[in-house]
Amino acid sequence: RVPLSEVTHLQDLGCGTFGNVWLGHNATFGKVAVKTVKPGNKAGSAHNFWREAEMLASLNHPNVLRVYGVVVDSPTAGPDSLGTLGSPIDRPVVGIMTEYMRGGSLSTHLAYLAQHRMFIPMAPRAELALHAVKGLAYLHDMNVVHFDLKPENLLLDTPLNLLDPNYPVPVVKVADFGLSKHKLKHHVPDVLNLRGTLPYMAPELATNSLCVSEKVDVWSLGVVLWEMLTLQTPFGDCTPQEILAGLMSARPPEIPSWCEPEWAHLLECCWEPNPQNRCSLRHLSETLQRIIDEY
Ligand code: ADP
Ligand code: MG
Ligand code: MG
Repeated sequence: RVPLSEVTHLQDLGCGTFGNVWLGHNATFGKVAVKTVKPGNKAGSAHNFWREAEMLASLNHPNVLRVYGVVVDSPTAGPDSLGTLGSPIDRPVVGIMTEYMRGGSLSTHLAYLAQHRMFIPMAPRAELALHAVKGLAYLHDMNVVHFDLKPENLLLDTPLNLLDPNYPVPVVKVADFGLSKHKLKHHVPDVLNLRGTLPYMAPELATNSLCVSEKVDVWSLGVVLWEMLTLQTPFGDCTPQEILAGLMSARPPEIPSWCEPEWAHLLECCWEPNPQNRCSLRHLSETLQRIIDEY
């Protein structure tokens, strides 16, 4: 638990749905990323941050963003949110402090490459994907369902540099546990309805919540793999209504005809409509490893 006054603001890094993220410096941890409540965001954010930090704190894997602690309000602030956090804590939680990922989010890099009409060759693409798969497999082993997997929530340790063949492929880490659920603590189908981001959501979230399981993340991962291939955003020109209709009929984004057969196989097996038949992360990681070895 670190007081806000002990983190120096250096620069803004980005903002998501719920938080503003900025780069800070702390005497103990050095450079850190701090996610704080967006101004004007409703009460309950403190609770959400606490929950998100708690979720992250129990996790430790090279492909999962590391959390250092929660940031609490300056010492002058009273214990006004005592009790609302579901935990005995003396000051309001205003943010989460995590490791800083210098490469930023995968979505930024995909947009940059699209703008410059570049594509990611299959070998580095498979390497990036394998990081995400390993992080996700770890989460599922820990009984955590992420529920919001998308390129924005995958962070890179260094920038993606495809022009220099000697430049190593960045390490990818799964981030943003704001919507995550612990399978053993919550009966998953009870707690959610259309949880996640529409174009990445598995069909069972819209059609049969009794089938909702960690396999929702595998569907989303398929959409991420599709985006790494095409550099387009899924269902780019569709309205939310059209996307929802597609979701109910388990319609994934279209696989382009030029897609390598190996990659098409990956996409198809992530997009199996029946979650029970949807491929395992083990199958994905073995297939990706084979691609890396062969190309
Ligand atoms: P939200 O829950 O509001 O979506 P995120 O945790 O996804 O917030 O963070 C929003 C954005 O901020 C990310 O998409 C990324 O661009 C940036 N960001 C978040 N955490 C870090 C980090 N540790 N290092 C660098 N950039 C980050
Ligand atoms: Mg996010
Ligand atoms: Mg979030």
